[in-house]
Amino acid sequence: MRAAIELADAGSVLVIAKDSLRESSSEYAQGGIAAALNDDDRIELHEQDTIYAGDGLCNVSAVHALVEEAPAAIQDLIGWGAEFDREGEGKGSKLVFAREGAHSRNRVLHAHGDSTGHEIARTLYQKAASIPAIRFETYSAVVDLLHGDDGVTGAVALEESSGELRDIRTRAVLLATGGLGCVYRETTNPAVATGDGVAMAWRVGAEVSNLEFVQFHPTALHLEGAPRFLLSEAMRGEGAVLRNKNGEAFMERYHEMRDLAPRDVVSRAIVAEMKRTGSPHVWLDLTARGEKFIHERFPRIYETCLGLGLDLGREAAPVHPAAHYAMGGVRTDLEGRTSVEGLYAAGEVACSGVHGANRLASNSLLEGLVFGARAGRAMRGQRGVSGTQAGRSKWAAPDVTASELRELTWTHCGILRDRAGLQSAIDAMAGMGAIEVESPTLRAIELRNIYELAQLIAKSALWREESRGAHYRTDFPEKRAEFERDSSFRMQG
Ligand SMILES: Cc1cc2nc3c(=O)[nH]c(=O)nc-3n(C[C@H](O)[C@H](O)[C@H](O)COP(=O)(O)OP(=O)(O)OC[C@H]3O[C@@H](n4cnc5c(N)ncnc54)[C@H](O)[C@@H]3O)c2cc1C
Repeated sequence: MRAAIELADAGSVLVIAKDSLRESSSEYAQGGIAAALNDDDRIELHEQDTIYAGDGLCNVSAVHALVEEAPAAIQDLIGWGAEFDREGEGKGSKLVFAREGAHSRNRVLHAHGDSTGHEIARTLYQKAASIPAIRFETYSAVVDLLHGDDGVTGAVALEESSGELRDIRTRAVLLATGGLGCVYRETTNPAVATGDGVAMAWRVGAEVSNLEFVQFHPTALHLEGAPRFLLSEAMRGEGAVLRNKNGEAFMERYHEMRDLAPRDVVSRAIVAEMKRTGSPHVWLDLTARGEKFIHERFPRIYETCLGLGLDLGREAAPVHPAAHYAMGGVRTDLEGRTSVEGLYAAGEVACSGVHGANRLASNSLLEGLVFGARAGRAMRGQRGVSGTQAGRSKWAAPDVTASELRELTWTHCGILRDRAGLQSAIDAMAGMGAIEVESPTLRAIELRNIYELAQLIAKSALWREESRGAHYRTDFPEKRAEFERDSSFRMQG
């Protein structure tokens, strides 16, 4: 949406979404968006924190662009009507900045307490919808990219209502398809996050990078039968404490930053405590702040939990880690260009280099804004490529169910990995047969994408014989200098 706003000057822009425009990770983002706008903050500090979290793999130029352009990106949003939370009345009111894990300053803006993503998405949609050159098409899934000898020439879309496939010819295509959490059994992501953009780009020969780096959010609600609703890191920023089965606040045994340690450290600590105490989850306890505070500061979380029979003012919530964010994706330069002519990517689908091996909380909404705008500007100059049109790729879906694949990925490519497990996952997937599909459905399209992504994640994780950032190998628990580089895969042939 941010790219479309920037691109609209250059011609007509079509924004396609496979569900309603609202159904996206952006819509559900709670905690906030980071920018060095607070009086005691500096761009260099935001840069340092981002690079520290990235554990040796950030592209420093990309990080610099991200943090330097953050304040203006926020000001643009405010100018278009975004209402971030403020303190004080009227003209003298000031933006409120929260603290999140691994940030050295309070620099996270939020809106309506815990509805930051919704507010940003609402503002961008409102702005984009006011520009006549931008059209929207919903419930239309992009299945594949059209490509000729010289690059991408458009996309193939599946219209949900008619089941028809349709070619869309364009001068350029931007992938903004979000994350891949639904490759895993446990995820905080909405059902649309099936990694479609990475799989499509892979199929036309684009370079994909760092797919082994999947961030597992430590605190997804773990109630029987309920969705894995996210309990934002900002709750720990406001004093929530993780406790084990015996009520012990265990994080001080794992990291000096205790409950605000980097996410991967917290996720592994939770897994260790669950194992040690023989419990299917741990607890997140914010009761010390009282019901009134929790209700005001986290209205959406409070109400959702209450609807599930859990009163956060009085009791701790059962929590368990879940796949949350993909640091890797389609490799791009700083203008969102992929390695295939005419194809761009921005947001979670891209690997722009800003997150390295681990993402600093609240940097991803920001990445979408900054690199979305950059990609939109770069696309203005795209002339369209010529070349013979390649036919649509043949339709075959793997002979497996999505839940079997998700179980396999969760077990072998999850929080703790090792060579034997990764190799067994790769072998199991290689042994799965394929079924010819006459006319593909959305479910078959997603299944094929999940299958391709699961293989890419397993192969990337097997290649990286070290532990770094969010990638943890029990057989290689240390960082190794020879792996201080990005993983990179391209379709062969
Ligand atoms: C519960 C939750 C909380 C989070 N909290 C925060 C936070 O507080 N701060 C932060 O910075 N980040 C947060 N994140 C991460 C952040 O929300 C995402 O990284 C970011 O919103 C991704 O934006 P995006 O535009 O790349 O993708 P999305 O916002 O997910 O949008 C992708 C869009 O592409 C569409 N799409 C996908 N595949 C296809 C296809 N084949 N054809 C057509 N359309 C398709 C989807 O339907 C969707 O509309 C959170 C994530 C989750 C899940």
